[in-house]
Amino acid sequence: MLSQRFTSRLTKRAVPPRRCSRPRIEGLEDRLVLYSTLGAQWVYASRITYSFVPDGANIGGYSSSLYATLNAKYPTATWQLQFQKAAAVWQAVAGINLCQVGDDGSTLGAYGNQQGDSRFGDIRISAVPQSSGTLAICLTPPPVNGGSEAGDLIFNSTSNWGINTNYDLETVAIHEFGHALGLDHSAITTACMYAYFNGFKQSLTTDDINGIQSIWGSGKTDIFNSNGQSNGVYTSAPNISGYLNSTTAQAAIPNLSITKTGQSEWFAVTVPANTTGTFVTTVQSTNLSIFSPKLQVLSTSMALLGSATSSDYGATVSVSLSGVRAGTTYYVRVSGNTAGNPFGGYGLLVNFGSQAQSPIAPPNTTVAWAASQGGGSESEGHDLVSIGNFTSYGDALEVSTAGVRMRAVTHPAAVPSAIAGQTAVSTSAIDPGFWTAHAVAKVGRTDRASTPSLPIVHSAGRRVSHAFDAAIAAWKGRGLIDWADA
Ligand SMILES: [Zn+2]
Repeated sequence: MLSQRFTSRLTKRAVPPRRCSRPRIEGLEDRLVLYSTLGAQWVYASRITYSFVPDGANIGGYSSSLYATLNAKYPTATWQLQFQKAAAVWQAVAGINLCQVGDDGSTLGAYGNQQGDSRFGDIRISAVPQSSGTLAICLTPPPVNGGSEAGDLIFNSTSNWGINTNYDLETVAIHEFGHALGLDHSAITTACMYAYFNGFKQSLTTDDINGIQSIWGSGKTDIFNSNGQSNGVYTSAPNISGYLNSTTAQAAIPNLSITKTGQSEWFAVTVPANTTGTFVTTVQSTNLSIFSPKLQVLSTSMALLGSATSSDYGATVSVSLSGVRAGTTYYVRVSGNTAGNPFGGYGLLVNFGSQAQSPIAPPNTTVAWAASQGGGSESEGHDLVSIGNFTSYGDALEVSTAGVRMRAVTHPAAVPSAIAGQTAVSTSAIDPGFWTAHAVAKVGRTDRASTPSLPIVHSAGRRVSHAFDAAIAAWKGRGLIDWADA
């Protein structure tokens, strides 16, 4: 059908030329901007870690049973991959690196660092029995929660978990990671950040991407891909020989990244005079991100001399050449392995000497414990949730849309400026409960008699203002609201 339409448009004689008497609607402008944010995020974007809590860890008086629950259905690597994939969809589009680390089984909320605690991940994933309507809980990231519990995910060990079947682990993990990275719920029913589980969602919607990028920016550029630099082809490869240590004949370049589909980073390196005749090139994302690297080493005539790749989420791959001679130049090409996670941060190491080379150390992301700041009453992510005898700020993902969530609303100080740049969105894509909760007159005003079924917007809450602005814009675009009412 699509090709038929294209064919018609391209065949002038078959279809009379269309009269263009009406203004053309700007293409691709129907942005879905109904996401909202928690107003909470990690101090350091360079490395946000997550970990799988070992069974037996104390979660509010319960013993975590994540492994027992999911090992009963799938091999450990299989279910953990669902979480890795979930982390990867966010890392791919945002200016963050996520990194899987170990977990010593400390009690949930143990006194420790808000971020960068060496005992466990910033985002700890556990499971305990919860009520049947709840799939998982996310404890709101800092500074709403100020301790080590910030960002932690507690899955319901009694839910019927599945992979590509209900309840799909990856779908729920994407939603919970979204909260742990600072997103609140979206009013778009197809968004991963919609408040209820209503089907598989294994990739982000535009609304999810707009939301995460509003918090973390759109991606990680490195020094070879910013300020007019690009090393995307071999002819623009920078020669990194200047990084070589004159004694060890080694170089380590941190903070590199692959951010775009099909992107390669090319480097040239010339063998130094003090080489011992070996050339080891290493791409490291282990301990830095969940990037799956692909490495190729080539001659200046583009002969492939060696390659290495991994589909692991966080890996280190190396290529070794022997018999190299001083003055010879080689090309190094780094890209992502699409069989794993092809986007993320990494470091590049080269070694022409005889000593073993140390891996690149992760950035220091230590943020000490702080008192929980809580938040306003208008975000679900700032609700108090209890897991056993542990209470914290957080949000629970619920199974059905049976209940309509009502949010408090307050008067805006002014018309949100965001309206000016927004276009109307399809109201059919928006949770009906959203309108009930956000857009119906409820502060002593009377709906206009001429449009009794249409809402008059009176108020917007600051916490949910972005979502609310979009809703307002949708109605405003149709002439259905009047800001003078507010
Ligand atoms: Zn949620």
